[in-house]
Amino acid sequence: MSDGTPVPDCLFCKIIAREIPAEVVRETETTLAFRDIHPQAPTHVLVVPKAHHPNAAALAVAAPDQAAAILAEAGEVAAQEKIAESGYRLIFNTGAGAGQTVFHAHVHVLGGDGSLHGTL
Ligand code: ADP
Repeated sequence: MSDGTPVPDCLFCKIIAREIPAEVVRETETTLAFRDIHPQAPTHVLVVPKAHHPNAAALAVAAPDQAAAILAEAGEVAAQEKIAESGYRLIFNTGAGAGQTVFHAHVHVLGGDGSLHGTL
């Protein structure tokens, strides 16, 4: 089980430590929300736990309170970004085969575009 310890070469651990800049939109004691550097929608924010866990499922096993916290924060981001009413998508890419490139748990908050209706 992952223990939440920061990983030195983890990009999101570096953003959390303010070693790499990011456009932070919200912060709590246990979470950070910042804009994705390559936005895929008019609003594209990543919400991460400050503790390092490799993906959302591992986070939910090791620290369920923090898994709940990133979901609650995703909702707060949607409200702050004014996409809550029009609707938004939450995406957890899990594993390299599904496109995960940063192995620090995160949820993508995507919205602000009527074309976001997908097949799922
Ligand atoms: P994918 O790259 O397929 O979206 P992930 O689900 O692992 O895979 O998402 C990692 C996200 O991190 C990507 O959307 C990427 O654009 C974003 N990203 C990479 N570097 C930075 C950065 N320095 N600041 C903000 N977002 C970043």
